[in-house]
Amino acid sequence: MPTQRFTVLPSSEATAAPIRDDILANPGFGRYFTDHMAHVRWTLDAGWHGHEVHPYGPLTLDPAAAVLHYAQEIFEGIKAYRHDDGSVWAFRPEKNAERFRRSARRLALPELSDDDFVDSLKALLAQDHAWVPTPATAAEESSLYLRPFMIASETFLGVRPSHEVDYYVIASPAAAYFKGGIAPVSIWLSSHYKRAAAGGTGFAKCGGNYAASLAAQKEAEANDCSQVAFLDAAENKWIEELGGMNLFFVYRDGRLVTPQLTDTILEGVTRDSVLTLAREEGLTPEERPISLDEWREGAASGDITEVFACGTAAVITPVGELVTEDDTIRLDAGGDNEVAKRLRGHLLDLQYGRREDTHGWLTRLA
Ligand SMILES: *Cc1c(COP(=O)(O)O)cnc(C)c1O
Repeated sequence: MPTQRFTVLPSSEATAAPIRDDILANPGFGRYFTDHMAHVRWTLDAGWHGHEVHPYGPLTLDPAAAVLHYAQEIFEGIKAYRHDDGSVWAFRPEKNAERFRRSARRLALPELSDDDFVDSLKALLAQDHAWVPTPATAAEESSLYLRPFMIASETFLGVRPSHEVDYYVIASPAAAYFKGGIAPVSIWLSSHYKRAAAGGTGFAKCGGNYAASLAAQKEAEANDCSQVAFLDAAENKWIEELGGMNLFFVYRDGRLVTPQLTDTILEGVTRDSVLTLAREEGLTPEERPISLDEWREGAASGDITEVFACGTAAVITPVGELVTEDDTIRLDAGGDNEVAKRLRGHLLDLQYGRREDTHGWLTRLA
């Protein structure tokens, strides 16, 4: 087993089973963490080394650690799903590994090999598999959310790529992301804040992109919206994505349109999977630019019957309305979000092993 590369230092204070079971019965999202974490260290001289799984706990960072000042950081988000036979699986983790390398290149961080990435998940799950919830019903959608991340840990205030880097994986049991289940969400259109610009870091999964989106998120909340949609920075015209999810538009004639990838859009694993499943569901996927005007006119004419957002955390979530500074774009035509629900069910059935994995998308973790 390649995971033998990871030395295990078991926790002497592991959570007692009854306490863990209480947490798993109502985990929320991102509130509780498992007993261990995976860790791999990198230095300019030695490369990647020191593969370890050790007890979960605070990091010791010098106050001058580069990440705290210049945000040289990237992350990933993956879920581990428990199947009916008790086994634990990840969905397309090699896509996350590949994206993690892309993000690393953009942030001038060292690339972690795909093997180390996937093995770090396996090594952590070998210790903490009991933290993967067993969904009582298919509707429950509980899982163990895995958060790999990489930080510049060198103690140095000069501005250059860090010579010391740490990679970690932490894990957090998760219930459904939105409390409202698949109730349609209201989205705020950010008209002056932009998430990404050409040549920037929009395609990379880095904390800096999220930091830059929070002022817009505050605006959204002040307007009773739960998420933010961003337009392109150059023309203020083209729909890009939400702060952490990709967008899809369902047309009355069966087309399923999503903005085509540019370096200002994050390439979601869920987005890619939806494009594949769309064909199997008899839809015609289309990747092309789509403007705010097209959204407004399509909603008014009834040509657009549904809009939905997708990402690992929230799976597929229908968008009920887009609130802008001038108007509210409602999708009255669709009403039941039938396509979003169908694609969501298809995806979840694959992830939870209730449907044959014809694409080879599942990797066993435990
Ligand atoms: C993570 C993320 C997504 C969704 O990606 P998935 O791989 O589907 O989880 C979409 N947009 C942004 C900005 C993200 O950070």
